[in-house]
Amino acid sequence: MTLRNLTILGATGTIGVNTLDVVARHPERFRVVALSGFNQIERLAGQCRQFRPRYAVVPDAARARALAALVADLPVEVLHGEAALEEISALPEVDTVMAAIVGAAGLRPALAAARAGKRILLANKETLVMAGRFFMEAVREGGATILPIDSEHNAIFQCMPAEFGAECRAQSSEHPAPRPAPRAPRLPAGVRRILLTASGGPFRTRALETLAAVTPEEAVAHPNWVMGRKISVDSATMMNKGLEVIEAHWLFSARPEEIEVVIHPQSIVHSMVEYRDGSVIAQLSHPDMRTPIAHALAYPERVEAGVPWLDLARIGSLSFEAPDTRRFPCLKLAYEALQAGGAAPTVLNAANEEAVAAFLAHAIPYLAIAEALAETLGQLGTAPVGSLDDLVAVDAEARAAARALMARHAAGARRGA
Ligand code: NDP
Ligand code: MG
Repeated sequence: MTLRNLTILGATGTIGVNTLDVVARHPERFRVVALSGFNQIERLAGQCRQFRPRYAVVPDAARARALAALVADLPVEVLHGEAALEEISALPEVDTVMAAIVGAAGLRPALAAARAGKRILLANKETLVMAGRFFMEAVREGGATILPIDSEHNAIFQCMPAEFGAECRAQSSEHPAPRPAPRAPRLPAGVRRILLTASGGPFRTRALETLAAVTPEEAVAHPNWVMGRKISVDSATMMNKGLEVIEAHWLFSARPEEIEVVIHPQSIVHSMVEYRDGSVIAQLSHPDMRTPIAHALAYPERVEAGVPWLDLARIGSLSFEAPDTRRFPCLKLAYEALQAGGAAPTVLNAANEEAVAAFLAHAIPYLAIAEALAETLGQLGTAPVGSLDDLVAVDAEARAAARALMARHAAGARRGA
């Protein structure tokens, strides 16, 4: 049994809280060295009290003072700012970093963990969508490994040939084997396709003509999963699945045509891998993020996650259907952005973050999310990107462009009303 020393980025979010739930079940295996939060300072203070980390990171000096006052009796050092997030991602005493900040804000700390050669438990899919090439390069150069947390990618990882996890197993061992040669940029030998499952979200069967009137409250009410607000809206539009197609491309070296999305409303099969001989291997479990989190935390060992055992007779039936791109235009846009490459996925991700935030703030209607993405991609999707700095600039430009478009539309809608 290996003792793991952890940094948890985004500890106060849904993934962070689920991670700490698994950690608390195995105190002999996991030690928390550092935690980060953003707005939920009291929750972070409670986590510091329970898990006794050495460091806690918040965004600014005011919140650092608030947290320090709440944990004054504890031996925890309170740090603040983006540099501190990078610092706790690269600490020498930490071997495993859970990357569970939401959105583009998660990129720099994840890059720091990659450069420092950590085992990265990657929940923040936006890192791969925004900067897949640069992040994967940093992982290779830093000698880091990635264990996917997103339930679909974790399932795919589990269904891949055993050699696929060789690098992570070598890093997990107390006497690491020599690192295997880097994989060729294609699916492992014998694998034909990835079948990425999607629940279809809350609007899978809603009458198309009523989608215009969807409210944020309806959009975040996911039928199977309890998640943060941004990813819940992404699930409603199926942009989440689009981001996951791009994520799968980078994690498993799959071309767009080798990734097929299939709707599976019960969310029991979390994804599948199809082999050349016609075999399809699936991973099944309850829709509870503690399963993929426990898998990645303990890999290659297995530990209890606190998740109920699967009772298939009670579930009764598992069904599958093809996604309808008229209902879910964001999914199509994501495939197009992946095909286009270059700046397009970065632009898509940035415009999506802005559009979802505007929708959650009741500033734009639901259907305007996909419109804003398509228009921003049209404006900036072919911008040149030679470096990470270029990507950061494209990200900022795309946000500004998406905000301007949405403001114009909102003004037009007010005039028309
Ligand atoms: P939440 O919104 O629940 O949590 C986000 C976390 O990030 C919180 O700890 C939050 O702090 C922190 N945070 C927010 N903004 C910033 C910022 N600008 N800088 C630093 N920290 C910030 O999100 P989820 O836990 O649902 O998702 C986290 C990531 O995992 C996302 O990338 C998502 O796509 C991915 N994911 C989530 C799944 C899920 O089931 N929830 C499934 C698969 C992937 P605070 O709360 O204190 O404000
Ligand atoms: Mg997912």
